[in-house]
Amino acid sequence: MDDLSQLPGEPIPKELYSEYEERPFRTCTRCGETLADFAEGFQIAKVFKNNEAVFEYALCSHCHIGMIEEFSAESRQTLEDYYAKNMTPGLGAHQCGICLLERNELPQNEFSLGAACVGNKLIEAFMICSPCVEKSNVLVSKKTQGIWNDFIDSNFPGVPENSLPCPTGISIF
Ligand SMILES: [Zn+2]
Ligand SMILES: [Zn+2]
Repeated sequence: MDDLSQLPGEPIPKELYSEYEERPFRTCTRCGETLADFAEGFQIAKVFKNNEAVFEYALCSHCHIGMIEEFSAESRQTLEDYYAKNMTPGLGAHQCGICLLERNELPQNEFSLGAACVGNKLIEAFMICSPCVEKSNVLVSKKTQGIWNDFIDSNFPGVPENSLPCPTGISIF
């Protein structure tokens, strides 16, 4: 197989490292497979409150697709429409993709980061501030929210209720 560490692109920034392991994520939080082995890459999600990561995961492409498939077609459509309408792509991890505020302008120091990576490289990152996460959550049906909460509960036990990323705070692509 190709050596994925030789890919062009930016190295994964430290704030997207595993807080828990104090180094870049090496394995999928859900299935334990080695992330660098996935040519399709992997997804990182982290939720920060006051400079502290209160939630984090890295999902291999296989588990990420599996998670998205747990949502109904209708929920997926709702999320996709929401992104298409409200999200500005390509802004990176320092500006909210929805309200466009920079990190240092946020009313609260709370936000979610999402990133797509391949090997040891960052392909794309986005940030959504906490008020935007909450606002967009309202648009998601109770059912979608329930599927998401169940997914988190069964894969990441022990996450406090108020530290959950919301389904609109993650990448569904
Ligand atoms: Zn996995
Ligand atoms: Zn925002």
